[in-house]
Amino acid sequence: MYKVGITGGIGSGKTTVCKVFEVLGIPVFYADTEAKSIMIKDTLLIEGIKSTFGKASYFEDGKLNNKHLAALVFNNETELAKLNALVHPAVFRAYASWEEQVNAKVPYTLKEAALLFESDSYKMCDTSILVTAPLNIKINRVMQRDNVTVEQVKARMNKQLSDEQKTKMANHFIINDEAHSIIEQVLTLHRLFLAAAADAPI
Ligand code: ATP
Repeated sequence: MYKVGITGGIGSGKTTVCKVFEVLGIPVFYADTEAKSIMIKDTLLIEGIKSTFGKASYFEDGKLNNKHLAALVFNNETELAKLNALVHPAVFRAYASWEEQVNAKVPYTLKEAALLFESDSYKMCDTSILVTAPLNIKINRVMQRDNVTVEQVKARMNKQLSDEQKTKMANHFIINDEAHSIIEQVLTLHRLFLAAAADAPI
């Protein structure tokens, strides 16, 4: 199966772009949503988190103790790296089993991940898309969507590679500002991926 990775900075609109691909019948694996759900489902991951960050990482009813974990990893690169080293392989496991269940007749699949390049998961994709938007637009979108301050958005942005760095690594681009139609750009890439998938070895 031909695999396309899609990423973009916070507020760039990568999820919105994925919804357009879904309308075209392309299945999308949402790695960040999946990461949240496996934190309370994947027993191997849960055991790893408890043994690394303590039993207090979970409440008795099995829910994640976000405050406990956030206090440990926030602004602590070493602890955050430990958490990522547990979560990323678990997401890869979930992705592998999702891929197995995808209808074999689908021409290609999409994997949406905020940290596609940072987590090396782009290496498992045949090609990649970077969704971009001007900084002020991204900030405004996230402030409105999440009801947060400009400082909080910037703090989240600082944890990701810059668009400049990601541009060097991406194969395709979608500009999601107020002047470009994402539908037209998605259709152009869709045609390209259909052709590439038809030529790709099975
Ligand atoms: P995150 O990394 O935070 O999950 P994202 O890159 O997936 O963000 P989206 O959630 O798709 O971004 O978009 C952020 C917000 O901006 C959403 O509320 C979405 O509806 C809005 N948005 C995205 N693209 C557009 C657009 N072209 N026009 C208007 N609103 C948009």
